[in-house]
Amino acid sequence: MKIISINAGSSSLKFRLFEMKDESVIASGLFERIGMDGSNFTIEYGKEKINQEVDLPDHKVAVSILLDKLVSLNIISSLNEIQGIGHRLVHGKDKYRDSVLITEEVIKDLEDFKEFAPLHNPANVLGIRAFQEALPEVPMVGVFDTAFHQTMNKETFLYPVPYSWYEKYGVRKYGFHGTSHRYIANMAKELLGKDEFRLISCHIGNGASLSAIKDGLCVDTTMGFTPLSGVMMGTRSGDIDPSIIPYVMEKEGMNVGEVMDELNKKSGLFGLSEFSSDMRDIIARCDEQDEKSWVARKKYVRRIVDYIASYYVLLGGVDMIVFTAGVGENSVPIRREICEALACLGVKIDLDLNNQRGKVTKISTEDSKILVYVIPTDEELMIARDTLKLIG
Ligand code: ADP
Repeated sequence: MKIISINAGSSSLKFRLFEMKDESVIASGLFERIGMDGSNFTIEYGKEKINQEVDLPDHKVAVSILLDKLVSLNIISSLNEIQGIGHRLVHGKDKYRDSVLITEEVIKDLEDFKEFAPLHNPANVLGIRAFQEALPEVPMVGVFDTAFHQTMNKETFLYPVPYSWYEKYGVRKYGFHGTSHRYIANMAKELLGKDEFRLISCHIGNGASLSAIKDGLCVDTTMGFTPLSGVMMGTRSGDIDPSIIPYVMEKEGMNVGEVMDELNKKSGLFGLSEFSSDMRDIIARCDEQDEKSWVARKKYVRRIVDYIASYYVLLGGVDMIVFTAGVGENSVPIRREICEALACLGVKIDLDLNNQRGKVTKISTEDSKILVYVIPTDEELMIARDTLKLIG
């Protein structure tokens, strides 16, 4: 059975087509700059890769070109082969604790919740509508980024602010990257060979979040009401004192939207280094002894270590720490620096094993008190698996 995973953004659409018999990837690709100049698409299949500039006025055109190409490039023999469509959906508030078959009610909820994810939820709806039109008979499943975190208890997900903000406006911690953290939790369960375990999943890419996971369920996570909170990221600040916002507004003559833009797009690694949001660039600059890049790097590591320490106490000890996503999977020095700072918890890593990239690797030594793994995340596969499960 073939299932396609879709991640629709406001101007992009990523896809991955799976043969679910062996979970192999048949094709993958990206449609970019939808509704803008310079729109184009890339499709990879087997050893082939094509990239074409083409007019993509909207998501419907992108989906129709994608489906045409899958057949005309002989990736599939007919569209009937696609038996399920899984959509990555960003915000399901506290209503969606699991993946669901997409119905008109789900679409309406995505629209109703758009205040909570103004860029993502409307884009997700565009993706759903485009596939509904192109393949009306094929069942679709929605996999929410927020779902995995809905097992947090009330004292964890509430902020210490007037209770009425939660009751009236839904002000609470929702958490994000849930599909990735759930994938890591499943992998950890398999690697440990038991159902009871304490895990800290570190999804550190351009966006970054950590989750404290007990027996496969989320106990706490670093992102909150929005993806801006928690650890420091590529361009997002992570946690800051909220009083900074009105102070800077006054000093810089900015409105609240402008300051929020700085916190989302011009802070984090980029903000402190005044150079780049990409950890590779920061490390290269550190090698040239650039002081701001060093501060950015140290602050980045420090924030992650602080949360791991706090989750260690919350979980009453930890069996496994996992690094995943762009920095977590690839950055040898950042993993080393985080683990060195955790030495007091009994974490020890093998520097040779830590040199590995891109595959599941245990990097802790035999005498480390906590297992440390690198596990490449696979949100698309998780979406395809959920789709298969729900369409039966
Ligand atoms: P996103 O959050 O956009 O999905 P990714 O998980 O793909 O991001 O992570 C992208 C980030 O991973 C890059 O911005 C870069 O900082 C980091 N990264 C990728 N490769 C390396 C590497 N070899 N060393 C250090 N950082 C890396």
